[in-house]
Amino acid sequence: MKVAVGSRSDVGRVRDGNQDSYFAERPLFVVADGMGGHLGGDVASATAIETISSGLSDSGGHPDPDVLAELVKSANKRIWDRSQGDPSLRGMGTTCTLMFLEEDEGLVVHVGDSRLYLFREGGLNQLSEDHTLVGQMVREGRLSEEEARHHPQRSIITRALGVDADVRVDVFQIELRNDDALLICSDGLTSMVDDEDIKKVLEEGTDAQTAADRLVELANHAGGEDNITVVVLDTRAEAVAAADTAPPPPDSTGAPVRDKDTGELGEPAEVEDEGRRSAGAQDEEDESGYEPGRSSWIRRLVWALALLIVVAAGAYFGLRYWLNNSYYVAATGSGVVGVYQGVDGRFAGFDLSHVEVSTALKVSDLPQNLRDNVNNGLGADSLGDAKSKVSSLQDAATRYQQQLKKQRQSRHKKRSGSGGGT
Ligand code: MN
Repeated sequence: MKVAVGSRSDVGRVRDGNQDSYFAERPLFVVADGMGGHLGGDVASATAIETISSGLSDSGGHPDPDVLAELVKSANKRIWDRSQGDPSLRGMGTTCTLMFLEEDEGLVVHVGDSRLYLFREGGLNQLSEDHTLVGQMVREGRLSEEEARHHPQRSIITRALGVDADVRVDVFQIELRNDDALLICSDGLTSMVDDEDIKKVLEEGTDAQTAADRLVELANHAGGEDNITVVVLDTRAEAVAAADTAPPPPDSTGAPVRDKDTGELGEPAEVEDEGRRSAGAQDEEDESGYEPGRSSWIRRLVWALALLIVVAAGAYFGLRYWLNNSYYVAATGSGVVGVYQGVDGRFAGFDLSHVEVSTALKVSDLPQNLRDNVNNGLGADSLGDAKSKVSSLQDAATRYQQQLKKQRQSRHKKRSGSGGGT
């Protein structure tokens, strides 16, 4: 069966790095969405891809479902071991949704909240189950799909590779037909773009790479709040014909390039070594005429790279500084007013903030308008500013409670007064 393949991974518009990894070379298609710290997520997702792709070539390339599941479990074990051995990687993990395609039979192994969709006969169906808290609630009928997409706890996943020594994986098979399209994607797509819009893109069916690019574009257009990775497979004649004639897509991905055979991380394109070049072109004296221009070009490239590194480092430390110096006042999980350090938001399942100071002031003791303010979060310029906001909240709560008490007493007095007056 002929299959056109398109793929793309993009950092999105909010995150400062891309922790998604993917592999899209027949017969293996994988999307892994890493999480945990600024290093861990990338290490976890890359380790998953690497372990699976190299394990596949060792197994002779014809895995049965059990072998494939074992491979994913060995990736789990490897990520877990690495996280236990290195404090900076502790807590890292990754989703993993993979399909091994032999002829028209797809073997699927799935853990986490990346998704596998099948587009067939005009309908789009999610074949994988989301291993998330909200996914579970949807399956139990306690939440609608739409509510789940906006739920504050939507990024909490219940299963992932690398967070425990053992993991339960979903394994199933699908029969691919002519005129099908398949999509494997990270939640950076599905949290931004709803199924109806994904379907519209797949419906076009002209070219798998165009579809992949378009999906990433839609997610970014909707805010791009997470890393976005998509792998599109298409068996429709038009897509296959387009793939046969199209030049290989340029690598415009945000994810590291992976070697097709080994799954090893690729090096960025190397500038040709000067020595090797002149040794190989001894009789091409006139070539040397290009050398000055060439070396100034290299110098410019080196300067550009250095500048890029400085800018990236600036952005990184700027972000760290910003997180460490941002405070806000909001309700804590136990219903009291607290001072948070960081910014209100989540990154790959982790909070960007933590409670710095917890107070004894109950949110429910505040007057309604201040209760709303606290529930929405009150920004502060510094820790001192946050603390003074807390103390004025405290004063307001005291006044409000006294006022309530007075109202209760006067009501009581009125009642007993009118009773005694007549
Ligand atoms: Mn994600």
